[in-house]
Amino acid sequence: MQALVLEEKGVLALRDIDLPQTVGPDDVKIAIHTVGVCGSDVHYYTHGAIGPYVLRAPMVLGHEAAGTVVEVGKNVRSLAVGDRVCMEPGIPDLSSRASKLGLYNVDPAVRFWATPPVHGILAPYTVHPAAFTYRLPDSVSFAEGAMVEPFAIGMQAATRARIVPGDVAAVIGAGPIGIMVALAALAGGCSRVLISDFSAEKLAIAAAYPGIEAVNLKETTFAAAIDTATRGWGADVVFEASGSGKAFEGLFNLVRPGGAAVLVGLPVDPVRFDVAGAISREVRIETVFRYANVFDRALELIASGKVDLKPLITGTYAFKDSIAAFDRAVEARPTDVKLQILVAEEG
Ligand SMILES: [Zn+2]
Repeated sequence: MQALVLEEKGVLALRDIDLPQTVGPDDVKIAIHTVGVCGSDVHYYTHGAIGPYVLRAPMVLGHEAAGTVVEVGKNVRSLAVGDRVCMEPGIPDLSSRASKLGLYNVDPAVRFWATPPVHGILAPYTVHPAAFTYRLPDSVSFAEGAMVEPFAIGMQAATRARIVPGDVAAVIGAGPIGIMVALAALAGGCSRVLISDFSAEKLAIAAAYPGIEAVNLKETTFAAAIDTATRGWGADVVFEASGSGKAFEGLFNLVRPGGAAVLVGLPVDPVRFDVAGAISREVRIETVFRYANVFDRALELIASGKVDLKPLITGTYAFKDSIAAFDRAVEARPTDVKLQILVAEEG
């Protein structure tokens, strides 16, 4: 079937490729409807690698997807043909030690869509374990369903933060993940979220949400803004969502004594770490790798209307124009948050 294939670094093709379509007893087959373009997909396109994951053979891109169940395996009871669903892109070994601990996201054996050598799902059909396929509530569109994956990272970050109602949070970086983190922090009980960036356009998108306050780093420092907002006490939770090594300079000075620093962004190189700054405030440090056990909760929040991800979808392309979608994503327009590709024939 036709798929969007990354042939090698910098070369995309919409072409036929053989993808396994055997439906195992615990699997479902899904007709893909909508797929979001993720920063990681774009990075494989432009760099051919992310850290230790190196593209060595043609790979289908895409891991943020929603669609419709068209076939179910003989053991599957939770889903039926015709169900609208979204999918968790990582498939762990369910008998692994990590999975048994509930930490299936850090199972070393996890196979994650569009992470070499595993194919993604920018294709008309995929086969996936029912255990990692989630029914969309009627009020949640396919477009929103395809936003659950990036939002899940925010959900994981908010969960790891152990937010207490009324907490003041600070998010470094107003990219797609920073905004997802801010929205999840608000949904998780934060009274207000300050978010910093150098881009006025990105900040404007974030601050359009009630409860999110923009801090433009071209005008002030995040430390000064947090100081003013908390009368010198510091933020209860600071989320690092920029992945910039520079963000770690003075990071712990943003956290109130006894507060938490949650590391979400992935710096390319090792960064200098102010151990004394962290220790002197007994900052609790948490890390976030993808997500585990949050898709159901994310869908509940979206269905309830408490979280509205629709304003973040800033462009939609037909499947035949997938390469144009990726080339626009490479441009990294500050006004773009999420581009999506409609794989299904009709909207
Ligand atoms: Zn993603």
